[in-house]
Amino acid sequence: MSRLIVVSNRVNPPSGEGEESVGGLAMALAAALREGSGVWFGWSGKTTPEFSGQLHIQTMGGVTAATVDLEEIDLEEYYNGYANKTLWPLFHYRIDLAAFDRAFGEGYSRVNRRFAQTLAPLIEPDDVIWIHDYHLIPLARELRSLGVKNRIGFFLHIPWPAHQVMINLPRHRELVAAMFDYDLVGFQTAEYQQAFEEYVVSEAEGALVRPGWVRGFGRLLQVGAFPIGIDAEDFARMVKSPRARRMRDLMSASTVFRRLIVGVDRLDYSKGLEERFLGFERFLTENPDLRREVLMLQIAPVSREAVEAYQEIRGRLDGLSGRINGEFADVDWTPFRYVNKTYRRDELAGIYRAARVGVVTPLRDGMNLVAKEFVAAQDPADPGVLVLSRFAGAARQMPTALLVNPNSAEEVADALKRAIGMEKAERIERWQALFDGVERDDVTAWRDNFVAALTEPREVRRPALVV
Ligand code: UDP
Repeated sequence: MSRLIVVSNRVNPPSGEGEESVGGLAMALAAALREGSGVWFGWSGKTTPEFSGQLHIQTMGGVTAATVDLEEIDLEEYYNGYANKTLWPLFHYRIDLAAFDRAFGEGYSRVNRRFAQTLAPLIEPDDVIWIHDYHLIPLARELRSLGVKNRIGFFLHIPWPAHQVMINLPRHRELVAAMFDYDLVGFQTAEYQQAFEEYVVSEAEGALVRPGWVRGFGRLLQVGAFPIGIDAEDFARMVKSPRARRMRDLMSASTVFRRLIVGVDRLDYSKGLEERFLGFERFLTENPDLRREVLMLQIAPVSREAVEAYQEIRGRLDGLSGRINGEFADVDWTPFRYVNKTYRRDELAGIYRAARVGVVTPLRDGMNLVAKEFVAAQDPADPGVLVLSRFAGAARQMPTALLVNPNSAEEVADALKRAIGMEKAERIERWQALFDGVERDDVTAWRDNFVAALTEPREVRRPALVV
């Protein structure tokens, strides 16, 4: 079997079961690589005064990791800059927060070139290369310019925005043209794939040649939807772990006579936290009889603190959570616990299990793995209810969740009320359908489907390029 080389911005395989690690991508890749021989290449997370291109190779958590340090200016322009101040907000429909700065674009190209130069000598003729996420869109183009002929696939973990949003990016054509150097480009949902195809048709003299094949910039590209899943088996094991049980008991003890509503998200403006807080506030205002029956816990570890938009939203959330408790708390009850700590995944499993309602209401989200973890952690005999944003990629696969428009505090409040009052029979029926999907479409299926599509013989499927 050929070797799989996975490339992502950060390389951070968790070192063991339940390991503390934030980010759906890291969890998914570690699980995908551990099962086969392969290499995970990317940034070490360290900076040096000057770029040396020196590779560090080590085995971490059963995975061979090859990492390279970056310069301080790379971090500023490529990571904090183009990736997190330009592409992230734009692809999550926050044009108002997107910064367009030529230096960011130059830093982004430079780091992609540096990654290619460092990675190319490691590549053997049979290797299959799988590149991940918005930090590394032009990496195949850079590798091709160094003569790399291997199969190269790309998977975008975040949404692909609508055409009219995408064209706000200066030099968008250049970025998209570089994607045609891949053999396969994968998206989380059919909707994102469609948005990409629409862009290519409108902006790149493109056409859909047949399902899954798009022509643009005078070239052909295979595209597909590959919704990412969780390691459901591993998660089921984690739910039974002593740490998870202890956490569940702790939570149950601190919520006696009350039902727990739980949210778990990186502190990010795409996660709809302000809107969710307002939805909960509205629920409390509109339902005085239910007020003391519930308690909401929001876990939101801080992330990307170097970016101002993240500092600002943090301040607003502090204010809102204080306001809710100030307005409703009593001597023996505070309605809202807002925690900025990071928890291990086995601890989260216990927290999910203790909850009656999981509330996952991002304004936009490529997939959202927390929604799937919440479902995987429930007691089949008495499961909780998932309230899910229709704008999360996961919504497509999870139609029996209570789907809401996360922008509407009214809809969020109504869904919370419905979830709190839902009869057991309905909870079980809805949950079973969700669980079956989480178990079936897990991270292994995701990896296998993507790698199978990337490695299948091209002559069989590739349509002729008719220009
Ligand atoms: N997570 C964690 N500890 C925390 C909060 C989150 O380990 O305190 C994990 C969570 O279990 C999930 C991931 O971080 O696996 C978040 O993935 P998701 O797809 O929901 O969102 P992302 O952060 O990738 O945008």
